[in-house]
Amino acid sequence: MPLTPLQIDEVLRSNHDHDCAGFGRDAICVRIVAIADLPSRFGQFQIVAFWNNRDDKEHVALVHGDVRGRSNVPVRLHSECLTGDALGSLRCDCRDQLEAALRAIGQMDCGALLYLRQEGRGIGLLNKIRAYSLQDVGLDTVEANLALGFRDDERDYAVAAHMLHSLGIRSIRLITNNPEKLRQLTQHRVTVSGRIPHVIPPNEFNRFYLETKARRSGHFIDFSGTPRLTEQSDPVVVAGMPETDEGTPA
Ligand SMILES: [Zn+2]
Ligand SMILES: [Zn+2]
Repeated sequence: MPLTPLQIDEVLRSNHDHDCAGFGRDAICVRIVAIADLPSRFGQFQIVAFWNNRDDKEHVALVHGDVRGRSNVPVRLHSECLTGDALGSLRCDCRDQLEAALRAIGQMDCGALLYLRQEGRGIGLLNKIRAYSLQDVGLDTVEANLALGFRDDERDYAVAAHMLHSLGIRSIRLITNNPEKLRQLTQHRVTVSGRIPHVIPPNEFNRFYLETKARRSGHFIDFSGTPRLTEQSDPVVVAGMPETDEGTPA
């Protein structure tokens, strides 16, 4: 069941004066500042908006059902990608990953997707477009990777860990193909009780993953046959494709 207006009031009141020593190297602290219903094409969600003391970014969680005090809650961490998530870009696979996660969580008893505002692996939209333009003029994927920069994972996981704590989740089953993520979340005091493989159902739009075997050394190949960087930190697995393929953590 989603939170009632009374329960939402409780959560907001207990967050209002929250102030802790913070999570991670940057001592990041977050507060829930608003919760609203968010019916979506992927199911019934509530959107939870977080303030934080460090990065000026407005992180949100999409929560299905009541996750407070629950154990083994399915959780997905998704990093913002304006071009993929909202505009349908095929330079990356972010939208497929986002939709598959929301669709899966929307059908579960309860669960949460943290939408982290870490555009372009944390370097921002403008720098991401700069890196795209370097690829357009022939930089190879390794050079473009350097231009794109690497995400500050430590900070990501610290924000995510605090958000999970603020949501009152006791333990999570992380939806991921990347066991490294589990290890890093554990370092930030998140109790990880398991992993759910993130498998994308095949359809006419992601068929190319199957045809090209998707990820090779962290890249995937788009409709035009061009190798592209993966922007999410998880390799893609489409149903029907073995998860143990080259380049994919078993
Ligand atoms: Zn705090
Ligand atoms: Zn993307």
